Amino acid sequence: MAYMKFLKHVEKYTKGLDIRKLAAVGGVVVLILMGMVGLWILSGNPTQNTTDARAALVGLTAQQGPGLNEAVGEQDGARLSPEAGSTPVTVESTPIQAAPTPTTVEPTAIPVAPTPPTSPFAPPATRGGVRIPAATVAIDPGHGGWDSGAVYQNPGGGTFTEKEVALQVGLRVQKLLVADGLKVVMTRTSDVSVGGSPKGAVGADLQARIDIANAANADVLVSIHFNSSGSPTSQGTETLYNANRPFSAQNQRLAQNVNSALLASMRAAGYASQNRGVKTDQSTGRGQFYLLSSGSTRPSRMPAVIGEGLFISNPTEAALLKQPEFLDTLAQGYADAIMAYFAR
Ligand SMILES: [Zn+2]
Repeated sequence: MAYMKFLKHVEKYTKGLDIRKLAAVGGVVVLILMGMVGLWILSGNPTQNTTDARAALVGLTAQQGPGLNEAVGEQDGARLSPEAGSTPVTVESTPIQAAPTPTTVEPTAIPVAPTPPTSPFAPPATRGGVRIPAATVAIDPGHGGWDSGAVYQNPGGGTFTEKEVALQVGLRVQKLLVADGLKVVMTRTSDVSVGGSPKGAVGADLQARIDIANAANADVLVSIHFNSSGSPTSQGTETLYNANRPFSAQNQRLAQNVNSALLASMRAAGYASQNRGVKTDQSTGRGQFYLLSSGSTRPSRMPAVIGEGLFISNPTEAALLKQPEFLDTLAQGYADAIMAYFAR
């Protein structure tokens, strides 16, 4: 009965309507209903969808950092249903929870990034396979100015002085060490006494040399000298150091290096110099050596040695010391010794 009533009702309201129009309206209604059902099926469980979205955000946060996460959060907030409207609040707090993210990302970046040349972990520079140390060397050409040191009377007249040979060798050593990458401080580079000391003030002159080495925080002080004797037959090579220093072991090693390298360099150049050995200044019987800090007012703060390459009072050795190539040989010996001292 109700159905018949419904039909009459429909008939009443559809009187005069075109059946084609009715069919079109019905078709539109059916399409709308089908669309709604389809959307419901596609959307699935709204709660599960929100959870997945948050999980994805957390994953992105862990991998990409806060910047990208913020962009994803805004996008999600526009797309999610009103039920999931609280999701952006959770998303906004995610960057705080993911604060340690950079430590997760950086370890993979470190092996890729090139090591900067100024890195303290960069390998040390080498030359010919030998490590170049970061060291400061004080080179002291003995004597100078009013102090000629040992003086040799040339057979043909005139004199040949220790101070000039010492300076020539010292400048050569400086050149070699600088070329090897070491920092070098010279107590003098010309024919002068050091520190403006007045004539005869040997102690002041020697103290000024020590002061220069200390001021430069030098790691070693190498003083270049040549021997002399009343006997023209005295000859050979010796190196002096002070055994009563806080660093006497290193000091002894530096002295041994210098003595051995001078002998080796000269031997390679064709002159077999007599090895007079490494000596402490106390053992020479020639009194204290102020430069080695025996009784000096302000002692050196680094190992110090005096190299006595040859005897300027020996005619044969004096002749060698007049050859620029042989001065190169002596300088190479000093440089080798100092490099070997730091290379350990
Ligand atoms: Zn001397």
